[in-house]
Amino acid sequence: MATVTIDIDLPPDVTLTAYHRHGDGHGFEVSWPLPGRCRCDRCGREEDSRVEYRDHAQVVRDLDLWGQPSFFVYQPAFHRCPWCNHRQFFLPPFKRKDTSYTFRFEQHVLRALIGSNEEEVARRLAISAETVGLIVNNQLADSQAKQVDPARVITDVGIDELSLKKRHKLYVTILTDLTNPDRPEVLAVAKGKDEAAGRQCLEKLSPKQREAVRTYRADMGAPLNAACRGLLKNARPVIDRFHVAKKFNEAIDAQRKKNHEEVQGEADEGAAEGVPVVDVGVPPPPGGPVGAGGGEIRGLVCEVAPAADAVRVPGAVPGDL
Ligand SMILES: [Zn+2]
Repeated sequence: MATVTIDIDLPPDVTLTAYHRHGDGHGFEVSWPLPGRCRCDRCGREEDSRVEYRDHAQVVRDLDLWGQPSFFVYQPAFHRCPWCNHRQFFLPPFKRKDTSYTFRFEQHVLRALIGSNEEEVARRLAISAETVGLIVNNQLADSQAKQVDPARVITDVGIDELSLKKRHKLYVTILTDLTNPDRPEVLAVAKGKDEAAGRQCLEKLSPKQREAVRTYRADMGAPLNAACRGLLKNARPVIDRFHVAKKFNEAIDAQRKKNHEEVQGEADEGAAEGVPVVDVGVPPPPGGPVGAGGGEIRGLVCEVAPAADAVRVPGAVPGDL
């Protein structure tokens, strides 16, 4: 038997307790410390936590592993209020209420939308286009409510427009921290794709942070570039291979449509926009869709892993993470 060790990044305070392989997916059993006190949502009384567990597991979509969907699996815990008997569930630190995907999966969806569209991203991640729209709206609401941590050191950023034009008629500008190019992180999102939207994103950074930015990669359209020129005084634009490729593809595509519209009808919408999926390092999607991040992983083959950030996968074949 071959053994492969994978390093997994976990959100703060989250511990890995087991690994399950199921079909084309990966299940990671996780736990996190529960608070000692709990205030009841129904009657408002605070008490020492009286913890009980629901009998079936909750499955939450997380980032892909080796191009295959991975999931956090846990037994939902709740506080049973001694006053009114209300079941008050503890919210995991890695997701928001009433969703079945992690915060970092939401950010991944936003990043995947750059140079793509909701239908293509939905297909690639095996989630519904509705879920993609919901995630973008959640992220928009979050971003409106908060500033970027002023202590964060940001030297390189990317700013792009996302379009969810097919179903949601929604244009969004996204600001990404590219200081560590291997780990791009979403800093802010704003509605719209004009200069004002670009400024709104950049103003989530403190004036000091904006001064410290050295480079920006902007969508090639004029408005976002203008926002960067205005607010990032010490930064220079970097032409991004990805953005150039996108522009190039659009030009070719426009040409193709012009020439063949009458003959061939509409071009294939999935493949036509942006860079082909394989060119940006995303492996082709596995066998079939695994559902919208919900559902349960059944028939689990379980191997208990050490309670560390490493998991051993028996018989797995290494790939590019
Ligand atoms: Zn109560």
